[in-house]
Amino acid sequence: MTIVAHMTLRFASKNGRAQLVVGPNNNLVDLAEVSGGRFDSDPIKAFPRWSELREFAATITDGGTPTNVDELDAPSPWPLQVFAIGLNYRSHAEESGMGLPAVPLTFTKFTSCIAAPNANIPIDAPMVDWEVELVVVMSSGGRNIKKADAWKHIAGISVGQDISDRALQFAAQPPHFDLGKSKKNYGPFGPWLVDAAEVADRDALHMTCTLNGEEVQNTLTDDLVFNVGDIVEYLSGIVELLPGDVIFTGTPGGVGVSRKPAVFLKPGDVLVSTIEGIGTTTNKCTQG
Ligand code: ZN
Repeated sequence: MTIVAHMTLRFASKNGRAQLVVGPNNNLVDLAEVSGGRFDSDPIKAFPRWSELREFAATITDGGTPTNVDELDAPSPWPLQVFAIGLNYRSHAEESGMGLPAVPLTFTKFTSCIAAPNANIPIDAPMVDWEVELVVVMSSGGRNIKKADAWKHIAGISVGQDISDRALQFAAQPPHFDLGKSKKNYGPFGPWLVDAAEVADRDALHMTCTLNGEEVQNTLTDDLVFNVGDIVEYLSGIVELLPGDVIFTGTPGGVGVSRKPAVFLKPGDVLVSTIEGIGTTTNKCTQG
């Protein structure tokens, strides 16, 4: 083990165990093992100790085994709460024919939909759609967090998909976004968390989604109507945010249901979601 002045903390989860992602080749190092038990193997126990983990991770600069992203779990695999924000990009509100919400339009993706970064997406309905999103995970959580302090309560940044069964989403009136977006593997994200404190342009990240190699979504996250600070201030003024909680921050224009003609996912399709400098996830669609 060598000590260097600085190393960005990247955090992953594999087989239910917390991992550090280390070096230019993205090697995985088991956190409990490398720390001699100072840190627990349970990923969710790392989040409240994020600052301490940052200091420790800076001392781990090599070792580990090559990452196979197909073997990773979501970086926060069993969060206690999952929040998602709807109509949060102008480009998506416009294509949906809706006005901009006055406050962050919030729903939950039930925790059991959280899936590995490269999870397969079962297609068991005719109107299953993609939504690439910036996904953040809380570190210390809390109540009444001010916008200016929001990033201090966030562990890391990743990319994910808010997969949506549009027919189910709009099966009731008012619509039940929660159920329509919570079927099996409808919340893949990862491949790891990049320490938010180390991402200089964290409010203006370049995010894209391709379907079978063709670009369908492309945005800068500074186009968010309510940015991460706004969302954290709004939510924490109502509910207590907890360590490991996950927030899907909304999708830009380019989803399938708004295309003319509409396009939906079918078995064999491949979705690739990327946030530049953060990571990429790949989701194959399978017969559900
Ligand atoms: Zn969404």
